[in-house]
Amino acid sequence: MHDQPKATMENDILLEVNGLKKHYPIKKGVFSSTVGTVKAVDGVSFSVSRGETLGIVGESGCGKSTTARLVIRLLQETEGSIRFAGKELTSLSKGELRGVRRDMQMIFQDPYASLHPRWTIERTLMEPMLVYGMGSRGEQRDRVLELLGNVGLNPSYAKRYPHEFSGGQRQRIGIARALVLQPQLIIADEPVSALDISIQAQVINLLQDLQEQYKLTYMFISHDLSVVRHISDRVAVMYLGRIVELAEKEKLFETPMHPYTQALMSAVPEVDGEKRERIILRGDVPSPAKPPTGCTFHTRCSSCMEICKTEIPVLKKAADGQLVACHLYT
Ligand code: SF4
Repeated sequence: MHDQPKATMENDILLEVNGLKKHYPIKKGVFSSTVGTVKAVDGVSFSVSRGETLGIVGESGCGKSTTARLVIRLLQETEGSIRFAGKELTSLSKGELRGVRRDMQMIFQDPYASLHPRWTIERTLMEPMLVYGMGSRGEQRDRVLELLGNVGLNPSYAKRYPHEFSGGQRQRIGIARALVLQPQLIIADEPVSALDISIQAQVINLLQDLQEQYKLTYMFISHDLSVVRHISDRVAVMYLGRIVELAEKEKLFETPMHPYTQALMSAVPEVDGEKRERIILRGDVPSPAKPPTGCTFHTRCSSCMEICKTEIPVLKKAADGQLVACHLYT
């Protein structure tokens, strides 16, 4: 059983993930025999309360985007449970899932790739309403204009095409599209990584305003600690398919406990205005096809002990609700 981290408003949990795994078999040879497994997500547990923003941070390949795609059902899990608004998603039929899907929407890193190049913005934003049979044509058009205004775009842009917009404007369109069906949960996967720094802050501020306006719950995925710090209430740090630390934002940034979190923080001294001693991590992130035994971080950790090489540390409460998976705290 996993030590299940609880959200801050425990009795109003919208999303609860427990022991989630996504393993891919590695096939080889003419007979495609399985020669190994890539453990992209390997036993992730967390919960998100209504109105909360959970940040998920980690280097590329740590499993954060796979976790997002599992939650929103773009991928099928290997194992584990995903409860959303009281429903177990992993056992729903396709038809039942369709109803739930409108309550969870995703914002992607590259809005241009996710917008149909030959559709006007109006058509792009109307499409989900057509699919779900929401309102009359007139009401759908009114909603498009309202949404464009809400994301800071001139409603007169409705007849334009994606290529006529800047990167920041296109991401605003991506956000409007995510809002069309009035979802409860929005999963934003690196939503500002492709944008200029100056535009990033505007888009983050917009997401915060919309969260207040529509009482939204966010899962916010990023490799950028400064961005995650700005928007999150709590933050989960992932490494090689597992959560290694999960805490309220202030605690995590003031007293990072896991050596990996400490190393990540030390790379962005401007995060809290004071200089932290830079911790240089040894080597690269190991391949998830061949993760190290025991604590998967042991090959890069300067505090590594003998036990770390053989025993997997469990994510558990170390201090004040701060959850950490490290033998230093057991
Ligand atoms: Fe380092 Fe051991 Fe903690 Fe892993 S369990 S982070 S190797 S001290």
